[in-house]
Amino acid sequence: MKERKITLTEKEIPEKWYNIVADMPNKPLPPLDPGTKEPIGPEALAPLFPEELILQEVSGEKWIDIPDEVRNIYSIWRPTPLYRAYNFEKALDTTVKIYYKYEGVSPVGSHKPNTAVPQAYYNKKAGTKKITTETGAGQWGSALAFACNHFGIELDVYMVRISYDQKPYRKSMMNTWGANVFSSPTNLTDAGRSILAADPDSTGSLGIAISEAVEMAATKPDVKYALGSVLNHVLTHQTVLGQEAVVQMEKAGDFPDIIVAPFGGGSNFAGISFPFLRYNLKEGKKVRAIAAEPTSCPKLTRGQFRYDFGDTIGMTPLFPMYTLGHTFVPAPIHAGGLRYHGAGVLVSQLLHDNLIEAQAVDQIESFEAGIIFAKSEGIIPAPEANHGIAVVIREAEIAKEEGINKTILFNLCGHGHFDMSAYEDYFAGKLHRHVLSDEEIDAAVSKLDTPVIE
Ligand SMILES: *Cc1c(COP(=O)(O)O)cnc(C)c1O
Repeated sequence: MKERKITLTEKEIPEKWYNIVADMPNKPLPPLDPGTKEPIGPEALAPLFPEELILQEVSGEKWIDIPDEVRNIYSIWRPTPLYRAYNFEKALDTTVKIYYKYEGVSPVGSHKPNTAVPQAYYNKKAGTKKITTETGAGQWGSALAFACNHFGIELDVYMVRISYDQKPYRKSMMNTWGANVFSSPTNLTDAGRSILAADPDSTGSLGIAISEAVEMAATKPDVKYALGSVLNHVLTHQTVLGQEAVVQMEKAGDFPDIIVAPFGGGSNFAGISFPFLRYNLKEGKKVRAIAAEPTSCPKLTRGQFRYDFGDTIGMTPLFPMYTLGHTFVPAPIHAGGLRYHGAGVLVSQLLHDNLIEAQAVDQIESFEAGIIFAKSEGIIPAPEANHGIAVVIREAEIAKEEGINKTILFNLCGHGHFDMSAYEDYFAGKLHRHVLSDEEIDAAVSKLDTPVIE
């Protein structure tokens, strides 16, 4: 029998997270105060995050210890399996070797608890009684609900109203783990009340939900806020999955030429790619790492590298990142996790320095790819992950034309069991190829008056 599944033992769960900042040729630029345009210090983040997470956010240390208590909870689902996709290769009629790391085996069905657990842990240590957060489709909210339940921290989730109404099962998951879930905009915050006064029927947005969660945390000392992507410490936590993959690829006797992952804010992409990019930066390897974003929210391939707010209302510091502008509202495509206007600072700097690549995929191509994968490998991917699978197929075709044997590794960051309505819409022909015009992109970006980075 050919070896399909490359597994590790619990003892092989990594003991440290990898912080790529230590190896980056150009270090990330500091966030700026939106008023003075001066760099902000770590203390500016203290109302929102516990000290240990702030230290990780600004750390230049290459390795950060994973606390035993966190590894202990990781062991509920980690190490996750790495598969050789023999059947998918056959379906594509390719000579390329394809591997995937499967993060859908976590209790919430995605990579998100890799950071939710340490975030809840450091909050518990700092005496946090309650955490607030936002969630769109519910992946992040359910991961943090799982983690906060473990540490006995109360959790308030502001869930975008349209998802609250349309995706009731993610809400039920959060409730099962004991979280309070509010349909945002609420009348509990100034931000929510002001939106409802202007538009009582507002369906909400991620930007509004962030403003509500931040407002609730910023004003109370024992209430903190947590974010599921974008920030440096979040990306660093996710390297636990890529480090496992490095060892698993070694066991398979292989090393990837190309790594692919879907891209929302950059956390699962960083998780799979940073531990391999370390070999590029330090040992002269030439792995290509490709981020797969949707054509309806193409910040990496068509956005600008400049300072911008992390949220829609403009409450955060200014971050140096690829962005479409913080007021940009992406079309309501089904890959909710990829509808973010900006990108993490670390991945943005790496892209600017040509150390990683990006490609945009429309939702029809992505669902076509996901269905080929589901039919051959059996696992039904999250709609976000389908974008990565589409890029894998593109690269396999290029390798075939060039007659070159290659090894591709991709991150299957989650399963799609709570997203079957998206597959239904695809089968019913209700999804469309959505590509933004240059005018639409210009209109979004031209609203910014923040510094462009050369
Ligand atoms: C949140 C999420 C994403 C996008 O976020 P990243 O930080 O870019 O990883 C992608 N896929 C799934 C399944 C998600 O839950």
